[in-house]
Amino acid sequence: MEVLAVTPEIFPLIKTGGLADVTGALPLALGAKGVGVRTLIPGYSSVMAKLPPSEPVLEYAALQGGAAAVHAVEVSGLDLFVLDAPHLFDRVGGPYGDATGADWPDNWRRFAALSHVGADIASGAISGYRPDIVHAHDWQAALTLAYMRYGHAPDTPSVMTVHNLAFQGQFGAGIFGSLGLPGEAMSLDGVEYYGGVGYLKAGLQAAWAITTVSPTYAQEIRTPEFGMGLDGLLNSRAADLHGIVNGIDTGIWDPAADPLLAGVYSAKALKARTVNKRAVEERFSLQLGGGPIFCIVSRLTWQKGIDVIVAALDEIVSTGARLAILGTGDAGLEGALLAGAARHRGRVGVVIGYDEALSHLMQGGCDAILVPSRFEPCGLTQLYGLRYGCVPILARTGGLADTVVDANEAALAAGVATGFLFSAVTPEALMQAVRRAMSAFATPAVWNGIQKQGMKADVSWSRSADRYVDLYKSLLARKGG
Ligand code: ADP
Repeated sequence: MEVLAVTPEIFPLIKTGGLADVTGALPLALGAKGVGVRTLIPGYSSVMAKLPPSEPVLEYAALQGGAAAVHAVEVSGLDLFVLDAPHLFDRVGGPYGDATGADWPDNWRRFAALSHVGADIASGAISGYRPDIVHAHDWQAALTLAYMRYGHAPDTPSVMTVHNLAFQGQFGAGIFGSLGLPGEAMSLDGVEYYGGVGYLKAGLQAAWAITTVSPTYAQEIRTPEFGMGLDGLLNSRAADLHGIVNGIDTGIWDPAADPLLAGVYSAKALKARTVNKRAVEERFSLQLGGGPIFCIVSRLTWQKGIDVIVAALDEIVSTGARLAILGTGDAGLEGALLAGAARHRGRVGVVIGYDEALSHLMQGGCDAILVPSRFEPCGLTQLYGLRYGCVPILARTGGLADTVVDANEAALAAGVATGFLFSAVTPEALMQAVRRAMSAFATPAVWNGIQKQGMKADVSWSRSADRYVDLYKSLLARKGG
């Protein structure tokens, strides 16, 4: 079985969040199950710079305003089609916006181009290659399925995966004429969305199957509270909606062999984490001490509940915990965290920025990771935390609720607890969980038990890859039938 994946991000070439980890790891896990995956990505300048030399396998004289070519290359064991379209992707800044964080004004054009090429490849534009299934990730790839439906490859089964429903790719109706879709596509069951064009909406409408990245989030997005305006559509497609929890790349995230740690360790030798804790203390200018270090590795946004951390920060410190925070995002939240660090020198350390290596060290050296998200489709940092013995303290939502067992009395007695969950995303509820964690930390046997149980949890891709294989097979059977 051959799958064409289309995505705006893939680790290790280009990453702004969990999406890249998933699209980078899933092909390898599927490969181990006998499913071949090739992934189409945009040729951002930072991506093009990392590619081996190659000849184009597909060329366009004019693609959304300029010449373009597709290159087939292998990078880090991933089979890629890279869309080299300098007028769209060769620019200084991030994949979606400039250095100030403002979206590129032509994002509609950039990702329409990516999707157009995805649909062309789906219909056999590259000689010798025709995928059995097309799998689109998030709004930037979603229009692929609309192009397939309205012309290129309506009979090829397709999957639309939603990694975060908050990002939908909504644009004014004025762009429709430039998309190259037939007029009939501008309809209620097509790409039309509240009078404009909705890319994710179009993908959800056209996909043979829809997945999101945890069973709880798959339920939540069918409600007005989490549905972001798409709950009606998702309910109408409930029979085709599946929640498949993300795994992690346990080769890259392996505390026993991670070159980004100051010292490697295993569940049998947790004391060896101490060298990483010392390195974290040094890096975040924290006082040395016996108390726990709680960390945050996150986009600093309202979704992630960082304002709740800001509100509770003084109280967290008053429990005797120290905080190590790594992230970038909302300028107001960055400033508030830095102010907290200034108030609590040696107790709170903040690094503003994106630092993959430091994120590994924090998982390997901190005692717990805080994830107070208001909504969380899956969440990956708690999975890294489980694997690294960095105990998750989480809001009970989406994939966070699906991946951690709360350390209540019964779970502790049964030896199945792996973290601490709280329900309302408020400073009070967060503090209750923090206090429970502090009291568990005070008894090393209890704390180590929770760490070890987490490290035993199966957070690999294997089981979830099986679910994708089953889904792909069911779609092929539907096609055949
Ligand atoms: P989201 O995709 O919503 O941002 P996830 O938890 O699914 O959230 O994935 C976030 C990914 O990005 C994780 O791999 C996490 O380690 C990483 N990450 C987030 N912020 C930073 C940062 N400032 N530095 C390094 N890695 C980060």
